[in-house]
Amino acid sequence: MTASSAQIIDGNALAAQLRGDVARRTTALKDRGLTPGLAVVLVGDNQASQVYVRNKVKACTDAGLHSVLEKYEATMTEAELLARVDALNNDPGIHGILVQLPLPAHIDAHKVIEAISPAKDVDGFHVASAGALMVGQPGFWPCTPYGCMKMLESIGYNLRGKHAVVIGRSNIVGKPMAMMLLQQNATVTICHSATPDLKAMTLQADVIVAAVGKRNVLTADMVKPGAVVIDVGMNRDDAGKLCGDVDFAGVSQVAGHITPVPGGVGPMTITMLLVNTLEAAERDAAQRGLA
Ligand code: NAP
Repeated sequence: MTASSAQIIDGNALAAQLRGDVARRTTALKDRGLTPGLAVVLVGDNQASQVYVRNKVKACTDAGLHSVLEKYEATMTEAELLARVDALNNDPGIHGILVQLPLPAHIDAHKVIEAISPAKDVDGFHVASAGALMVGQPGFWPCTPYGCMKMLESIGYNLRGKHAVVIGRSNIVGKPMAMMLLQQNATVTICHSATPDLKAMTLQADVIVAAVGKRNVLTADMVKPGAVVIDVGMNRDDAGKLCGDVDFAGVSQVAGHITPVPGGVGPMTITMLLVNTLEAAERDAAQRGLA
C-alpha cells in the first residue's frame, strides 16, 4: 500500500487545543463570579445516547464547566419534559440546555426543542437558531457543522471562490453546514439521496463534506486531486469498527486534506458544545454587568 498523500486534519489535537481555550475562558468567567452551566436531559435508556451524554458531561467537567445530567424514564410524558425544560430556562445557573435526541416516540421532539429558550439553545437546533444562521445574525450554530468549520479554519483554508459540495441535507448537519460555507463565500452545492449523479458533483468540489451515514459514499474516483474532504459519517465496518462515509484508504491518496474517523469530526462536536455553552455564559455575564 502506498503512503497517504493527504494531510490529516487531527480532530483530537484541534479539540484539545480548543478545550484548553474554553478552560481558560471558564476560569476567567468564574473569577468574575459566574460559572458556566450545561444541563443535559436524557429520556429513556437508548444505549448510544447514554454514552453520548456521559461524554458531554465529562467534557464539561474536564473544562471546568458546571454540568447536570437529568435522566428520566422512557415513560416520562411530554408535558413533564416540557415542564423540566421550562424550569431549566428559568434557572440562572444553567446557560445551556441540551435535550438528547432521539426522544421516545410519544414525545414530539420538535415541540421540546422549540420550548428551549433560544438564549440557551447550545445545540443550535431551535428554529430561531436555524433562522439566525440563515440570515447571518448572532445565534448558536449546530455543533457538528460548526466543528467542521473550525477544522477548515485550522488549516488556514480560505473558502472564498471555492466550490463546496455537502452530501446530506439534514437539519442538524447538512443544511447548516451549507449555510456556514456560504457565509464564508464558498459556492455551495447540496447533494442528497435524489441527486442523480453524485460523482459529477463531487468531482467539481474543492471541499467535500460527507454527512450521510453510509460507508464508502465517497471513493477516490469521486474526488478532485487536492480537495479537502471532511467526513462527518459514523458507521460500523464489517469488523464492527467505527468508520466514516469516506473510503479513507482510497480518498487519502487523492485528497489534499482529510479528516479521519475516528479522531476527526467526532471530538470536535462535543468541543463546540462547550464553546457554545461558554459563549452563552459570557453573554449572560455581559448582561449582568460582570464582563
Ligand atoms: P440523516 O438525517 O440520516 O441525513 C442523511 C442525509 O444523507 C440525508 O439528507 C439523505 O438524503 C442523504 N443521503 C442518503 N443516502 C445518500 C446517497 N446515497 N447519496 C447522497 N446523499 C444521501 O443523518 P445526519 O443526522 O445528518 O447524520 C449523517 C451522518 O453523520 C451519520 O452517520 C451520523 O451518525 C453522523 N453524525 C456524526 C456526528 C459527529 O459528531 N461525528 C454528528 C452528527 C451526525 P435525503 O434527505 O434525500 O434522505
